[in-house]
Amino acid sequence: MARMATCTICEARKGKRYCTARGEDICTQCCATEREVTINCPFECSYLRDSRLHEKRAFDEAGMPHRDVKIDDEFLQRSEMVLMLMAAFMNNAMKPVPNATDKEAREAIEALVASYRHGKDVNPEGEVAKGIVDRFREKLDPFKAELNDREAGPFADTAFLGVLVFMARVAYGYDNGKPNGRAYVHYLRAAFPEGGE
Ligand SMILES: [Zn+2]
Repeated sequence: MARMATCTICEARKGKRYCTARGEDICTQCCATEREVTINCPFECSYLRDSRLHEKRAFDEAGMPHRDVKIDDEFLQRSEMVLMLMAAFMNNAMKPVPNATDKEAREAIEALVASYRHGKDVNPEGEVAKGIVDRFREKLDPFKAELNDREAGPFADTAFLGVLVFMARVAYGYDNGKPNGRAYVHYLRAAFPEGGE
């Protein structure tokens, strides 16, 4: 019978779990404390998925992004199609960077919100977030042009801002405070299992 390996992180306890990110066996305790902290946990990890079910998030209403933008149920109902599309664009824009974290996703969303607030393209400083924004715009711009052709431009701009702010708030709600946290990114990915164009 093979001897159980020792955890490669603490080098003390038994390595009961195979960590797909490290390609090594680690102990349950290190898995819990290092998850999304020093370990870049992949979407596919079953331990990560299980942990999401009882992940604690300190939701602070005061920190909610763009509280001045009013988003009510009526707006969300009216903009449902735009919201679905934008979320799909965001999910697709993040695919080429599977290691992108919630922090980078939020940085990208913030730049997009700022673009609508200032009426000009605002780009994030981070390279990863900039790439996400570029790919997002590649999809959004033709869609926007189409709406403008149908003279739905003014509605579109309000809807886009509201929807992006809503996305920023959802991402904020998913923030688990970990440096490599991807609760929001993974929530998006789970919402579009086929990748949804
Ligand atoms: Zn350990």
